[in-house]
Parts: sequence; C-alpha cells; structure tokens
Amino acid sequence: MLFSGIGLLDENFDYRTDMFVGVKDGVIAYIGADKPAEDFGEAYPGRGRILMSGVYNAHTHASMTLLRGYAENLALADWLEKKVFPFEKKMTLGDVADGALLAVAEMLRFGTVSFSDMYYYNDEFMRVVGETGIKANFSYGVTCFDERGYEQLPAYEISEKLIGQFHNAFEGRMKIDLSIHGEYTSTPRVVKGLAEHAKDRGVRVHTHLSETKKEHEECKQRRGKTPAAYFASLGLFDNPTTAAHCVWLEDADMDLLREYGVTAASCPVSNLKLAGGFARVPQMLERGVRVALGTDGAASNNNLNLFKEIHCFATLFKCSSGDPSAVTPAQALCAATLSGAQAQGRENAGAIKTGAAADLVVLDAQAPHMHPVHQMANNLVFAAQGSDVLLTMVDGKVLYDRGEYKTLDIERVIFNADRAAKSVLTRLS
Ligand SMILES: [Zn+2]
Repeated sequence: MLFSGIGLLDENFDYRTDMFVGVKDGVIAYIGADKPAEDFGEAYPGRGRILMSGVYNAHTHASMTLLRGYAENLALADWLEKKVFPFEKKMTLGDVADGALLAVAEMLRFGTVSFSDMYYYNDEFMRVVGETGIKANFSYGVTCFDERGYEQLPAYEISEKLIGQFHNAFEGRMKIDLSIHGEYTSTPRVVKGLAEHAKDRGVRVHTHLSETKKEHEECKQRRGKTPAAYFASLGLFDNPTTAAHCVWLEDADMDLLREYGVTAASCPVSNLKLAGGFARVPQMLERGVRVALGTDGAASNNNLNLFKEIHCFATLFKCSSGDPSAVTPAQALCAATLSGAQAQGRENAGAIKTGAAADLVVLDAQAPHMHPVHQMANNLVFAAQGSDVLLTMVDGKVLYDRGEYKTLDIERVIFNADRAAKSVLTRLS
C-alpha cells in the first residue's frame, strides 16, 4: 500500500505534510516527499488524514470487557472481592474468548496494534490473536498463597506449554511472557522460580507493582523492603520486565527500574477510577525510566481506548506534580508507541521509519477539533479522540477501515460477548 499525500508524525514526533509512505512485506519500505518510482500496490489517499505509529497497550486484561460497567462506585476491596472475583470464577474459557474478541474489536477501533495481556490460559485466546491479525504478549497470571514451589504449580506446566506452542507464533505476532500477578499474591519461592524460568526460556516478565498504598506499605512491613526491591532481590528484574501501575514507587525504586531496564506501564485512568493514587510519572521520566501506557482491564477504565489514556497521561501528571510543563506531548506519544513496543520486545516497531514494522494508524485530520494546527503533536495529545482513527494496520495488513473490520464479524462479536456476560450472571445468581 502507498499512503499518498498524507500528513505524517515522524519518529521524532514532528509533523510533515504531503508525504508518501510505502508499505511492503509488512514493513515500512519508503518514506519521502516525492512519489516513489517503486510500485507499492493500492494507493491510499492521504489528503486530510494523519499517519502515525499504531499504539501499544502495555497492560490489560482483555477478557474483562465482560465486566464493563458491572462493578462501579465501590472501594477497591469490595470491587475485587464482592464483584470482580466472583464474576471471574463463573467465567468459562468460552466466555474468556468472547470477552477477548470484544476487546480486540475495541482496540482495533481505537488504533491499538498490540497489547500485553495477563489472564487465564485459554487456547481460544490464542486463536483470537491468530485470526484477527492483532499482536499480543500473553501471560498467565501466577498467584500462590501456600508453600508449593513454582514448578509444582499448574501455571508452570501451562506456561511451558504456551511457550512451546505459541511463543513467536503467527509470524511473531504472538509472544508469551511469564507473569507473577503481584508481590501480595505470591511467595518468594514462587517469584524466584518464575524468575529462573523466564531466564531459562528467554521470555519477558509482566507483573503488577505498587498499585496501591496498602500493597506497598504492607510489603515493607512484611518483607522489610519495597515491592520493587523485593522483586529485584529475587532476580525477577534480571529478565526484561513490564511492571504495571508503579503508583507508589519511592525514589530508590525508580533507580532500580532504570538500572534493570524495567518498563513502568502507567495506567492513569484505572488509577483514577479505583482511587489508587497518582504515579510520579514526571520523576520517572526525569530519571530515565522507560514509561509505557496501559488501559488495565475494562472493568476499571472502562475503555480500551489508548487515546483517552494519552490525554489523561499528559494532563493528570501536570496537575499531580504541580508543574504544567511536566509530561510533554512527545513524551506522551512516545509512551503510547515506541516505549510500548519496546516493553513487548518488539524491537523494530513503534515509530514511522524505514524498515520498521508497518503497525500504523490513520486519523481524520478534518475533524473540527483538530484545527487549526499549530503543532500536530499538541493536537494529537490534547484534542484528538480515539474515534478519529479511520484505519488500523498491523504488519502491513489493514484490519480496520472506517467502521469495517477485515478479520472479524463485529455483529457476532458483540452478540456473543453480551450473551457470555448474561450467562455468567445467570450462573452467579
Ligand atoms: Zn492489571
């Protein structure tokens, strides 16, 4: 495909108008102001449109779309224990797949090309990723409250099977990570075992870190160190790791994250909704910590719309830090694109440059709220809406184009998800 005469947000987040971008064999093969001599096939008219990197969701629980709007206005403990956990207990693997498919449809609609998911094992989930064409890093969230070793847990075998069968499957779109759900839901023995397993298999790690003040402070009391220091001491961070939330990190924790190259996946909307607190994102960025963006699950957001997250990320932390110059538009866009791709181990992705994966989105530049254009990066962060996305492309394949899904039947997806949510409620009552 040849994007012709299109506005382009380049890898430095500068805006260039009237550009040509040629996509071939899944990668960006040409970028220039002149029409290329080479034939790239179908021409995409770019007038009044903006091309930018697709966005990467660094932390979610896709199948929780079934719980969207189910548990609201509750304290965190009640939200989890009275509503979320009982609902999830009644979900079948079929429900998990129906929820995941709804999540993929929503993500493609809002320009997400890849997502890092932590949930229950499900072959059907793998099929969803395989068939829809989206990219995903999947990890089975390990919890353990007894004295068993990691290799005695069913999760060990499940993860082994997943790695063998699905790591780098679907032309590399699917990656398997290992997940320790969190410090407070596991034991040192299991953390250590999982860290060694990740090292042996050369896979990445995904965890929740210091999401709530309670979790952070209780860890200090229980273990004499912060959750970040605890994980580092058990070797978890010797692996490339994504740590979701990072709301209560202390200065020394941020230094640890930078030192070990851990990515903090900030989920500002979820933290706002569950009153988890305000991550010190400006300080993390200042210290050189890689910060990516996640939506968390749809029960605590309630969208999987990363453009909403970008807006919140770029405004909330100005207020919480008392510094309106904190978190620049370029930093917000970088968190949603390049940093997210890197957090998923997708090295040549997340930016428009020659040779990078053609994970791209086109936005409508003619919407009234996108004018005038003093600096396009400012408009994209502070004015754009997820619904401005016209087209989503993954590895050079168009998966969504102005309301039309190329790889899924949206009416059936919505019908099945509604039916699944209802059937869980029936089993709950
Ligand atoms: Zn989460």
